[in-house]
Amino acid sequence: MITFEEARRRLCEQIKRGREPGRIIELPLLESLGLALARPVSARSDSPRFDSSAVDGYAISLPDFADSRSVSLPIVGTVHAGTTSRRRLKPGTTQQIFTGAPVPVGSDAIVMQEDVVLDNHQVTFHVSPKPGANIRKRGAELRRGEKLFEAGTVITPSVAQTLAACGFARVKVHSRPTVSIIITGDELRTPGSTLKHGQIWDSNATALKAALHALGVTDVHTQHVSDNPASTTRAIRTALARSDVVIATGGVSVGERDFVKEAFASNDVHEVFWRVNIKPGKPIYFGTKRQNGKTKYVFGLPGNPVSVMVTYQLFVRHAILQMMGHIEDNSTIRGILASQLKKSDSRTEFVRAYQEFTGVSLPKIVPLNARESHMTTGMAKADCLIVFPAEKGILDAGSEVEIIPIEWAAY
Ligand code: AMP
Ligand code: MG
Repeated sequence: MITFEEARRRLCEQIKRGREPGRIIELPLLESLGLALARPVSARSDSPRFDSSAVDGYAISLPDFADSRSVSLPIVGTVHAGTTSRRRLKPGTTQQIFTGAPVPVGSDAIVMQEDVVLDNHQVTFHVSPKPGANIRKRGAELRRGEKLFEAGTVITPSVAQTLAACGFARVKVHSRPTVSIIITGDELRTPGSTLKHGQIWDSNATALKAALHALGVTDVHTQHVSDNPASTTRAIRTALARSDVVIATGGVSVGERDFVKEAFASNDVHEVFWRVNIKPGKPIYFGTKRQNGKTKYVFGLPGNPVSVMVTYQLFVRHAILQMMGHIEDNSTIRGILASQLKKSDSRTEFVRAYQEFTGVSLPKIVPLNARESHMTTGMAKADCLIVFPAEKGILDAGSEVEIIPIEWAAY
């Protein structure tokens, strides 16, 4: 059985290989949130674009201040933000100017209105201005052609703001994948319906759709199939035809009624891995298929609701973010374990836990009790997964542990 690290390596290798130019699209800024830039972006013009005033005040020319500390000058005009005419400042005069307005040619500084005395059409200055004071210089932040963002930069509201400030209305990004979810299990019914003995409500469809929505992936189609090979094969065929990513849940283990793997094979899906040395989620399957000039990514997640969420976090979300152009992120953080953890098998276990920030040093990591993979309440309270290494049997209270934060959104 392969290790967690090896599984992730193979997954990322496949995603990199499948990054076709056809998946790069141009979108309006608002529709690109959470996606990553497909190409570096450079400034189209200097920023600021022109010398402008940083305050409400008066434009002055320094030679007028050469001899004395107290100077009076006549006001010969006003420059508002948005003024498009290019005015000059004549020596021996001042112009009133407002924040963001273009500085008249010939001005050496702007004096804040708080630092002057107004008398009719005359301004008296009691300060000696420094050259360039209160002037936002053209190009001080960015020069035209200068690199603004690297490829892979995720569009957040502030990235979008900077792009908008530089005049970009649209950006080239990696598109969001379309997804099909296939829920398998004869015992499953839609939440809200009445159950007979032996039946349960399907929670995986809601969980996966919610998780995908949090990533901004909304083209999601869901089917529920009963446990038989023909309908499973048919559902997978439909899903492969319609979506970039297919996620099946349940039926992927070695039970008599586990038909998912077999149905992937009969749809010519190429297996990249099946079974990973982890808990929960050991039976996870990942494969690919070339179809209509595109690479399709196929996941078979074990049916247990917690396994679904953990394997979603560890594999599916990881893959989808990279499809969306994000740079691979394998980072973990560290914390101090609040209570002892024990295990008897040699799988890497991902223990649901939450972080407590005590204000000093590393966060305290509190493991949740419901560790079995059908217990969703623990997952609902968790904000991180403790990585309990395969080779260890005990993690002591007070020891430093590695955690993977549980994150849902794309930024
Ligand atoms: P399976 O992987 O199909 O053997 O399912 C493992 C366990 O997860 C069984 O107890 C199933 O009843 C349960 N299960 C499978 N799919 C779902 C689902 N969509 N919602 C809730 N529980 C599920
Ligand atoms: Mg099943």
